[in-house]
Amino acid sequence: MEGRDLRAGAVGNVPPMRHPIELARAVMERSPHVLLVGPGALEWGRQFGIEGCPLDELKVRAEAEPSGVECADTVGAVALDAEGRLAAATSTGGVKGKHPARVGDSPLPGAGTWADDEAGGASATGTGEFIIRVNLARRCVDAIRAGADPTAAADQGLAELRRRTGGTAGIILLDPQGRVGLGHTTLGMSWAWRRADGAASGWKR
Ligand code: ASP
Repeated sequence: MEGRDLRAGAVGNVPPMRHPIELARAVMERSPHVLLVGPGALEWGRQFGIEGCPLDELKVRAEAEPSGVECADTVGAVALDAEGRLAAATSTGGVKGKHPARVGDSPLPGAGTWADDEAGGASATGTGEFIIRVNLARRCVDAIRAGADPTAAADQGLAELRRRTGGTAGIILLDPQGRVGLGHTTLGMSWAWRRADGAASGWKR
């Protein structure tokens, strides 16, 4: 999603593929649509050279996970360029035990992903069934719009998610000034940021 004119592109429930964001971006830039789902989405992307891959290539080895912690595979990013343009993207394999036809929050603008040059960008992780119901990404960005700094905005959105649905989640935020916010009510959430003046990373706030 791009924050200048709220352009968005997304795919859901696509066959295994290495770079689903590439397909989502093609939907945004090359189709009149916002969201394409199912095998037909990849079929459509093939005309631009976008391909799937064998499922085995996407499997994470259990040994790669820190002991005692069950890791999810969601990856989210929010970026701000020198001209003040924000963009956000989220990619996920979904949740364990899901219905094969399920679509989660990640591809839904406002739920798992949001970018608005006038307020901020966001990418969320956690159980989509909770995140969708409170529109977590949009809610947190709106908290920035209302005056909260990005970290406080993350806390507010996550508190509201817990209060209204009982769900836990994690979210990264970036505002138009380049201020980073992150928060999680899950056990942990791997995060990293980089700016011209430095970088940091961790797995708990
Ligand atoms: N939010 C993702 C989903 O519900 C899963 C995750 O972030 O772990 O599909």
